[in-house]
Amino acid sequence: MHSWRWAALLVLSLLVGLFAVVSQKRQPKQHNPDLEHLIRSLGDEYLICADGTSQPSGSRWTQYLGIWRHMRPLLSQKPKASHIYTLATSQPESPGEVECLFVKSGRVLSSGTRLALGPLCDSFQGCMTHEVPYGHTLLPAFTDAHGHLLDLGQSLLSVDLTGAESLSECRERLESFLASHPDLDKSAWIEGGGWDHTRWIDWPNKARFPTAQDMIENSVSLRERKISLKRIDFHALWLSPAALQTVMADDKIPPGVEVIPGGSIVLDSEGRPSGVLVDHAMRFALEVIPRWTNEDRKKFLKQAVDLLLSEGITGVGDAAASIDDIVFYADTIRAGTDLGVRTYAFLSCESSQIVDDAECFEALVSRLAASGSGPLLLNEDAASDFTLRTVKLFADGALGSWGAALFLPYSDRPTERGSLTMNESAIPAIVNYWADKGYQIATHAIGDRANALVLDAYEEVLLRLTSQGEHDLRARIEHAQILRSQDFARFKSPTSQLMRTQGPLSIIASMQPSQYASDEHYLPSRLGPDRLANAFPWRSLLGSGSHVLFGSDFPVESPSVLAGIRAATTRTSPTADVVPETLTRLEALRAYTSAPPFGQFQEKVLGSLESEKWADWILTFGDILDDRQDLQDIRVVATVKRGKPAWLEGKGRLSSV
Ligand SMILES: [Zn+2]
Repeated sequence: MHSWRWAALLVLSLLVGLFAVVSQKRQPKQHNPDLEHLIRSLGDEYLICADGTSQPSGSRWTQYLGIWRHMRPLLSQKPKASHIYTLATSQPESPGEVECLFVKSGRVLSSGTRLALGPLCDSFQGCMTHEVPYGHTLLPAFTDAHGHLLDLGQSLLSVDLTGAESLSECRERLESFLASHPDLDKSAWIEGGGWDHTRWIDWPNKARFPTAQDMIENSVSLRERKISLKRIDFHALWLSPAALQTVMADDKIPPGVEVIPGGSIVLDSEGRPSGVLVDHAMRFALEVIPRWTNEDRKKFLKQAVDLLLSEGITGVGDAAASIDDIVFYADTIRAGTDLGVRTYAFLSCESSQIVDDAECFEALVSRLAASGSGPLLLNEDAASDFTLRTVKLFADGALGSWGAALFLPYSDRPTERGSLTMNESAIPAIVNYWADKGYQIATHAIGDRANALVLDAYEEVLLRLTSQGEHDLRARIEHAQILRSQDFARFKSPTSQLMRTQGPLSIIASMQPSQYASDEHYLPSRLGPDRLANAFPWRSLLGSGSHVLFGSDFPVESPSVLAGIRAATTRTSPTADVVPETLTRLEALRAYTSAPPFGQFQEKVLGSLESEKWADWILTFGDILDDRQDLQDIRVVATVKRGKPAWLEGKGRLSSV
């Protein structure tokens, strides 16, 4: 062949290769008929198999061009293959890849080779064998260990200021929300959230909160409106002037007081509330804003579940459910309706606006008794979508509003150390109270001081329970963001005394990688180098053998698990002498799949695709565990819950859920 022909062939191959790469990257989120056929034809028994090996990519005629084989590795680093990962718990360092899974009546019956499982499938009438499409991966569905289910739904239906880069953008979003809701009554409260003044480019003093006046400045449409906006971290509430006036008319806010137990009221130069209430002070407004009705909850739940299933999430820790929320969930289940995602609720007396724990428990008991159930719904077989066995306590605020309780002052506010939202001396007694009622304790603790005090209280309770022969408390710390280095090992083994008598006992760390990605920009100035080295210590905790569960804290962060895995695996160390807290993809994936059910006492039936566990699985386009593949190109394309189709890309939620 003449050399110009070779050159032409080379150019042609390059163009074809580039087209293949570009079209793969830009693959639209449309529904795929083959995938739809597979998902919709999942019956009561089925065998699903993957090839597990690399396949040549490109169409047949391009493969015939010998040169293509040599060019392909240069053009694309994406091998085509299909995989099934069970994430079996017996070998945590391996993804547990198998050739086939056999599913019967919503559960995994067994896994193995085609040769072994084919005859098993044949023995059931109607059992079909399905193939995981090339380029796709089947793996356990995700569990988000800590989110806020109904708040997520509400955030999707109200003013969302998440990601707003300026105060003026916040005003514009409020104005456009009003413009798109012309029927909204003038006296109605407008709720929303997601603002983060530390990100605003037109807000030079990041240490100062915005005022009520700032919200409506120069805006005719906003001026008379009662607007209440939660900060991105849910630890501060920003009110419009009309809203502030309504709250103050009730005489609830003590005049001239800046600090109240567990919270603060931001004051102007004349000592009047300026529009932001922090932590416990938010109550003054929450008591005035109309509460959700069950109709609201129904709408919020639907919105939230639609989004979560599309992210491959079939289970959530609902990290602050009020008594009203819990009764709503319990009644929905009792009426024979699934919630859509497995909901592991944490009772929050705070969200129920009840200060006293005993009063809160009594209120829960009487409300649930009226709807026919007791105060604990253990659901250890995960047969239903709702579990209640956990109480949520709050030890401090959040870093974004300088509310996290630290031992030493904030580096960017040398007069403040944050505040405890529980009376320090009362923490052990409150933990004891709920443990005696049979509740798992999950305590919000962000600052190093809050974490140390909660660890102290947990140790005390664990010692007492252990001496009585019980120790399966599985106490959790939610967030565990800033720790003293001497506290890392206490998660694995709270006290040396316990180690001697019982062997190691764990306290569970429930953490949120995407929160690190969002807060990364202000952490160095807020914490200083020493504390920064011990912030979000995923690697250190996992390395010490602790149980680390991941979640997103949605709607504080997006529920995207892929974004969370990206944050956990791409983190770099702040300085060269600090060991990076980066995880491997497998470690991060396990923290969203096989790990969370331990924190929910459901590890025997959820989290991995092993015999007798529920067949909650997803298909991803791409392979999360292949380091050569960019996580941004990988997406969830189908979600299956209890063996049945729940969500399909391009189609949305499927009716069988
Ligand atoms: Zn939360």
